[in-house]
Amino acid sequence: MAFTKLSLIEPILKALATEGYTIPTPIQQKAIPLVLQQKDLLGCAQTGTGKTAAFAIPILQLLYQQKPLATGIKVLILTPTRELAIQIDESFAAYGRYTGIRHTVVFGGVSQLHQTNALKKGADILVATPGRLLDLMAQGYIRLDQLQIFVLDEADRMLDMGFIHDVKKVIAKLPAKRQTLFFSATMPPEIQKLANELLRHPSKVEVTPPSSTVEKIEQSLYHVGKMEKPELLMHLLQDKKIRTALVFTRTKHGADKVVKILHRHNVPAAAIHGNKSQNARQNALSDFKNGTLRVLVATDIAARGIDIDELTHVFNFELPNIPETYVHRIGRTGRAGNAGTAISFCSAEEKQN
Ligand code: AMP
Repeated sequence: MAFTKLSLIEPILKALATEGYTIPTPIQQKAIPLVLQQKDLLGCAQTGTGKTAAFAIPILQLLYQQKPLATGIKVLILTPTRELAIQIDESFAAYGRYTGIRHTVVFGGVSQLHQTNALKKGADILVATPGRLLDLMAQGYIRLDQLQIFVLDEADRMLDMGFIHDVKKVIAKLPAKRQTLFFSATMPPEIQKLANELLRHPSKVEVTPPSSTVEKIEQSLYHVGKMEKPELLMHLLQDKKIRTALVFTRTKHGADKVVKILHRHNVPAAAIHGNKSQNARQNALSDFKNGTLRVLVATDIAARGIDIDELTHVFNFELPNIPETYVHRIGRTGRAGNAGTAISFCSAEEKQN
């Protein structure tokens, strides 16, 4: 099925053509018509399934059909990390480029001046992380009394990262009459309870559970001594087919150590983790995306949701404890139909007794 079959308006179809998208992903096929019918939605999907466009496209269309638009924020997308917030805002820019609908993004870790200036110019759609949103609301820069659509993105991750209390504070400020779209890769009991509280007669859309997202990813495992891991990584990176590699470590310190080793071998690399400034992380990410950096070393939280087209290889320099984290990690490669390779290093200490 093509996008042209989804009753989308011309400015959006034109933007999708510019992006080179022709076929909607399964979640887009299912979710777009439901959101256009102004239904509440429970979406069980993780990053990599095309879920951003699944909500961004119909939201843009619903707003476009209201033109001329009243002032005030009409749509709020709440997401756990700055990287995701920036990517979602970029998606609204891409899909909404011919609609004239205004969007902006706020997130913590940077000065708020640039963000408050953008807010003063007016926005129809706001993408936000919870802490900075609450700060700016408390200071009177953001009002949500005109809100029509609320999107909660990566609800399970909000819980994992300790943001659920902030999320509930935001929800308490939203108008009761609204459309709510709720996305979560997993549905632990606390998240199910939150979904039940938030959604009114929701339509449920589920796509590829995590265990089946790995089909296009070739996985392999090396049993290797802890001290030999750097040497093995350097050896494997000699393969020129590895154009880009995302290397996972368990700790920030571990990430820095791997980068030092790569630099010693003249491999262009950088680390992204919570101790790096927002600027350093953004620079590393854009250098990686434009090919200046061949290797990006990341901890799980920093890498969550990072969207890198055509990432060919993921290395688990250290194995995660939780199976789901493994699935999330290797899901960074093999995106949107591309093939990917995931290589894990397992030392004796990491084997389960
Ligand atoms: P997401 O799950 O929203 O993070 O999207 C995953 C990736 O798929 C992003 O790089 C999108 O740009 C890309 N993408 C989303 N929808 C489509 C589509 N219909 N056709 C091709 N690529 C897409």
